[in-house]
Amino acid sequence: MTYKIAILPGDGIGPEVIAEAVKVLERLRSAFGVRLELQSAPVGGAAYDAHKHPLPEPTLRLVKQADAVLLGAVGGSRWDSLPRELRPEKGLLTIRAELKLFANLRPAMLFPQLANAAALKPEAISGLDLLIVRELTGDIYFGKPRGIRRLENGERQGYDTMLYAEHEIERVARVAFEAARKRRKQVCSVDKANVLETSGLWREVVTRVAEEYPDVALSHMYVDNAAMQLVRAPKQFDVMLTGNMFGDILSDEASMLTGSIGMLPSASLDAHDKGMYEPIHGSAPDIAGRRLANPLAMILSAAMMFRYSFNELALADRIERAVVTVLDQGLRTSDIHTAGTKKVNTAEMGDAVVKALE
Ligand code: NAD
Repeated sequence: MTYKIAILPGDGIGPEVIAEAVKVLERLRSAFGVRLELQSAPVGGAAYDAHKHPLPEPTLRLVKQADAVLLGAVGGSRWDSLPRELRPEKGLLTIRAELKLFANLRPAMLFPQLANAAALKPEAISGLDLLIVRELTGDIYFGKPRGIRRLENGERQGYDTMLYAEHEIERVARVAFEAARKRRKQVCSVDKANVLETSGLWREVVTRVAEEYPDVALSHMYVDNAAMQLVRAPKQFDVMLTGNMFGDILSDEASMLTGSIGMLPSASLDAHDKGMYEPIHGSAPDIAGRRLANPLAMILSAAMMFRYSFNELALADRIERAVVTVLDQGLRTSDIHTAGTKKVNTAEMGDAVVKALE
C-alpha cells in the first residue's frame, strides 16, 4: 500500500513548518520502508500570486486524488484587500467543502515538559489530554437565509440561521464516540439546549447515537458552563463534542491550556477517514522567514494523519514519541523557550525530531 499525500505549504511560516514535516516523512520512507508518495501544490496567497486563484484547478485535482492532505497555513495582510472569493482562506474553505470534511478533531494535550509555559497553574493542567470533535460544515456559519435587511423603520438588521439536520448531527456524533473508544471512553456533548431549538434536536440525536456505544459514557453540558469548566477543571474532559460555532470558540480556548499554539495539530475528516491535517496556528506573518516557527504542531499533524487516515498507529506513536524525546532533550523553539532549556531554530527542531525517530 502506497499512501498518496498532497503537500500544501501555503503562506507565511506554512512552507517553513511543512518542510520539517516532510523531512520526517522522508525519513520514514528511507529508514523504515513506509511507502509514501508526496506531491506539492500551491494554495492560499502563494497560489494567488502564481495563478491568480487561491485554489488553482491542479491543486484541487491533487487533493481529490490524494489519500490525505497536509497543509501548512494560509493568509496574510497582503491579500486582505482582495475580493472574498480570491482571498487565501477561500482556498481552505473550498477544500473543506469539496472533500466534505465535516469533522474537525483538535487534541489539546499538555506535554509535561511544557507545564510551566502554559497559562494555567501546572496542577490544573498536568496530564491534560482532551480531544475536541467539532462539526465543520453546518450550523449558523452556513445556514440560509442570512444577510442584512432593511426594516420598516429604515434601520438595518443582520440575521443568520442556525441549522442542523439529524444526519449531520449523527455522523459527527459517531466520530466522537469512535474516537472515545480509542481513549478514556467519555463523551461530553456541548449545546445550548435550554435556549436553542437546534440544540434540543442536537441533544436528542446525540443521546440516540450513544445507545450504539454502551461502553462510552455520555454527558451533556451547556456551552457557557463548558467555557468555564475548560479553564476551571479541564482534566474532567476526554472527548468534547460540539457544533461548528461553539467548537470554534471552545477549541481556541482549549489551545491556551497547553502552552503554545505552535504545539497543536488538527485533523478534518470525511465519512471515509480521508482527511486534511494542519496545525491550528495561522501563517504567523510576524515571524515568517526568521527561522523562529515551531514545527512541532505540523509534525504532530502528520502523526494524526497516520493515526486517523491510514490507521498506522505504530507510526503515529513513533512520531509522537520522537517529539517527546526532543522536549526531554530540552530543545525549544523561541515560543516555548524557558530558562534552562536550549533554544533552537525551526530546522534544528525538525532535524532533532528526525533523529529521534530511531
Ligand atoms: P497566527 O496563528 O498566525 O499567529 C498568532 C501568534 O502566534 C503570532 O504571534 C505568531 O507569531 C504565533 N505563532 C503562530 N504559530 C506559531 C508557531 N508555529 N511557532 C511560533 N509562534 C507561532 O494567527 P494570526 O496572527 O491571527 O493570523 C495570521 C494569518 O494567518 C492571518 O492571515 C489569518 O487569517 C491566518 N490564519 C490562517 C489559519 C489557517 O491557515 N488555518 C488559521 C488561523 C489564521
